[in-house]
Amino acid sequence: MRCAFCTAEAIVDRPYAGDHLCGDHLGRSIADRFRREMRRQAPRMRSGRVAVALSGGKDSATALVLTRRYFERRPTVELVAISVDEGIAGYRPSTLAKAQELTAQLGVEHRIVRAESALGVTTDQAVERLPGTVPCSFCGVWRRGLLNEAAREAEAELLVLGFNLDDLAQSILMNLAHAEVDRLLRMAPHRKKQPGLVPRIAPLATVPEREIFLHALANGIPFDHSECPHARAAERNVFREVLWRLEEVRPGTRHALLRTRETIADLLERNGGEGAPSRCSLCGAPSTHAICRSCEYRRAAAEAVVAE
Ligand code: SF4
Ligand SMILES: [Zn+2]
Ligand SMILES: [Zn+2]
Repeated sequence: MRCAFCTAEAIVDRPYAGDHLCGDHLGRSIADRFRREMRRQAPRMRSGRVAVALSGGKDSATALVLTRRYFERRPTVELVAISVDEGIAGYRPSTLAKAQELTAQLGVEHRIVRAESALGVTTDQAVERLPGTVPCSFCGVWRRGLLNEAAREAEAELLVLGFNLDDLAQSILMNLAHAEVDRLLRMAPHRKKQPGLVPRIAPLATVPEREIFLHALANGIPFDHSECPHARAAERNVFREVLWRLEEVRPGTRHALLRTRETIADLLERNGGEGAPSRCSLCGAPSTHAICRSCEYRRAAAEAVVAE
């Protein structure tokens, strides 16, 4: 199969767009979509610091490479990459090594936040102490909190996340299926600045996971392929499969879900908005509850040790 824009062999088909692309045109197309989303999600970013969450996987590695390229001609913008070490044996050390390799290659400052020292508990320890709880529920909450704190400490105006189209479409569908409209609105990309929260943006939002993978591979971007050993229990896996099936039957479903979220947010904004979160009474982080979920999970993990 040939590329839709040149005579080269295609490396990816895009049923939602009705075309095929070669490696070169895939790269250009991803960069275009990234730029468009950057301009839309962060229109006023002319100077200051931008933090990029870097796990060491393909998505965040690509997000860092493209963010650096985007701000290349703007020396007034400084980048800092932030990685969180949740303490997951057999997974995180190799992804962190790739994150270090990439930041050294790009000459970007790299900060690593360790859950063990920041929270007093690692994801692996919490998995042992909280048997019945899906690991991603506490791990994801902790990582979000640590990334926000580190971005605040770095005095960043923005936090760039590597979420791709598949990630976001899965999250939207999950939140809809759980009737959690408030969470749907709190998802990245953030439209407004909220007290205590560095606005999170997702400039790869319209790019499917597979295209990012092929692009990163074709361009020699250092990233780690390993999968988290705790990911198997995640409910997200079911939504991933459902979406693959839907996308096969009706290409463009993932893009439609993104638009659905935007439409709901527009409608609610016109009706007075979602309301600002208040603060957690224990740690002071922005929270919609009196005690934030990060503190709830930390308390449960600590109580489990006492009970042993
Ligand atoms: S898959 Fe779940 S447990 Fe593993 S790093 Fe991601 S959020 Fe944490
Ligand atoms: Zn081409
Ligand atoms: Zn808290």
